[in-house]
Amino acid sequence: MTTKPINFGAGPGKIPEDVLKEAQQEFLAYEGIEFSVTELSHRSDTYAKINETAQNDLRELLNVPSNYKIIFLHGGGQGLFAAVAMNLMGKNKIADYAVTGIWSQVAANEAKRYGQVNLVFPTPDNPGNIPEPSTWTITSNASYVYYCDNETIQGVEYPFIPDTKGVPLVADMSSNLMTRKFDISKFGVVIAAVQKNLGTAGLGIVIIREDLLGNALDICPSILNFKQVSDYNSILNTPPIFPIYLHGKVLKWVKKLGGLEAMENESKRKSQLLYSVIDSSNDFYQSTVPVNTRSRTNVTFRIKDKNEELESDFLKKAEEKKMFQLKGHSLVGGIRVSLYNAITYEDVEYLVDFMKEFQSNNA
Ligand code: PMP
Repeated sequence: MTTKPINFGAGPGKIPEDVLKEAQQEFLAYEGIEFSVTELSHRSDTYAKINETAQNDLRELLNVPSNYKIIFLHGGGQGLFAAVAMNLMGKNKIADYAVTGIWSQVAANEAKRYGQVNLVFPTPDNPGNIPEPSTWTITSNASYVYYCDNETIQGVEYPFIPDTKGVPLVADMSSNLMTRKFDISKFGVVIAAVQKNLGTAGLGIVIIREDLLGNALDICPSILNFKQVSDYNSILNTPPIFPIYLHGKVLKWVKKLGGLEAMENESKRKSQLLYSVIDSSNDFYQSTVPVNTRSRTNVTFRIKDKNEELESDFLKKAEEKKMFQLKGHSLVGGIRVSLYNAITYEDVEYLVDFMKEFQSNNA
């Protein structure tokens, strides 16, 4: 059993210890140069290699076809929300959004600045009640259909890829990219901020089908313009060098552990263990999400009919046992356990042992 501190935070999330140690060792003098990677020119051959290796590893791990570009962008998740709208709405300024939680709502609000936003279904009472894709109202001339594959705050994950009847599909996979296999060819664009499964904050990833490049609105800033940044191989201006360097190291770590398949298997095992303890707790722990849309990476639950006193005691006792950042998002309350790739099965065993003990002391 572990006695090390465990960071269950939703993002920035836990980074593999091996990666942090390697970065620590190299911090003052990166391989082949006599100074830090944070001082490195983005025009140097050394940085060109860091940039290219990270892109190639990401492409290999996610099985990205050659007609898709990979772009590293400034601005994190919300920067990507604005960039998606400004880059894709150029044709007719209409976009469809599936709103199932806070992050898809924030993305839709951002897009409204740049064009008309249609909701493909009325907002469900419970974010986990995602309407059947056959009932979605798709606007046939929309520039794209947007959804958030994993709502980090509510703990809701799509169990299917929506069929958008030929309209390009855009997905925010910030909190579940690199945790399960999926067919990229079904998507026009996949976006992700990396500070959950893939590194440290400051970097956004865009994977885009080539034919969708070149439709940006005139007002789109150059550093958010997918075509311009892609033409410069993501070195249009000074990129977030350290986050890209660290992202590259996380990708090597994923490869060493067995790639995407290994991440998917572990993600399943970890989340099944935690949900099984929640579901067998006689309603002491209560999941707020229907079984088929429960997230594998952000497990949200309440304690004994939203007993806030008990919930804050749970958090306090968890911290005494060195488990951190388990508090649910302030908009929804309760407990949230983020099971990103760097969290091990043993970490989850340690947590569920604590949960059982807490229950028997407070039932
Ligand atoms: N999308 C999702 C799914 C997220 O979880 C988050 C942040 N937690 C964001 C977007 C926004 O990311 P950022 O804070 O980097 O803007």
